[in-house]
Amino acid sequence: MASTRHDGDTWDLASSVGATATMAAAARAIATRADRSLIDDPFAAPLVRAVGVDLLTRLATGEVSPDDVVGQVAIDGATVRTKFYDEFFLDATSAGITQVVILASGLDSRAYRLPWPTGTVVYEVDQPQVIEFKTRTLAELGATPTADRRVAAVDLRDDWPTALRTVGFDPGQPTAWSAEGLLSYLPPEAQDRLLDTITELSAPGSRVATESRPNPQPGDEDKTKERLDRISERWRAQGFDTDMTRLRYFGERNEAAPYLTDRGWTLNEISVRDLLAANDLPPIKDDYLRMADVLHVSGTLNKTTK
Ligand code: SAM
Repeated sequence: MASTRHDGDTWDLASSVGATATMAAAARAIATRADRSLIDDPFAAPLVRAVGVDLLTRLATGEVSPDDVVGQVAIDGATVRTKFYDEFFLDATSAGITQVVILASGLDSRAYRLPWPTGTVVYEVDQPQVIEFKTRTLAELGATPTADRRVAAVDLRDDWPTALRTVGFDPGQPTAWSAEGLLSYLPPEAQDRLLDTITELSAPGSRVATESRPNPQPGDEDKTKERLDRISERWRAQGFDTDMTRLRYFGERNEAAPYLTDRGWTLNEISVRDLLAANDLPPIKDDYLRMADVLHVSGTLNKTTK
């Protein structure tokens, strides 16, 4: 059984928070195979298979239906999220940004699958075992990056800016940043620090994309935990020992969108509810995970001096 989160905890792609990266990749594998496919991630299924968690492999390959574990709504949510970030990066780089930083990159294969303009440098930041696994596995699969890919294998609660600069990151150049599927796994103060650091390291014209989860209403989180416990029971019944409730940090925190706005970012926001509708996907019924109101946000930094 997963232990409670603590400072300095580490993981690989089969355990703790690392397993959420494999779940996200399994969702992209399912979405890639869908009849009306909104995304195309050819590396998702082979990466999940390589991690070797049997249930996630069976999910990724279609042997197990999402309805038997997480529900199709989780797949739809992951699909529109992937599309949102794909479009964010393609817009930012076609507007001339050549420096990209993917924070908490997990099994995201954008550095290998997006048509980056020549000269784009893509930095990926995640925990060492996660970075090492993806780099090695994609090399073994014969995949080659479609940009100049560089990695910083470091914890995002530690001094990641130094690790990023060491591999060539230049804060004097505008950057397109993403923090996708990350913030709930950081303690509140680490989230603030991360958003402050992104702002400090951003030259004028930089862009950012992330999620902003509304703070809970009384009683909300109990329902969310109950639902996550039920999902974890289903995972465990099928042989995958995980405890989704223990992976996230619950409670009040600064909401990311207003926090970034206060620091000079001009953001566009769209809720998961609206993003599903915009992509002709079914609405969320029975929203105990409070997914529908989560905002996907993206925008630009207005500051004129660093
Ligand atoms: N962004 C990827 C995606 O959407 O597929 C992965 C999302 S997954 C839900 C969460 C990711 O956050 C994992 O890859 C995990 O290793 C990373 N992560 C969470 N906390 C982290 C930390 N303190 N330092 C580095 N990476 C972290």
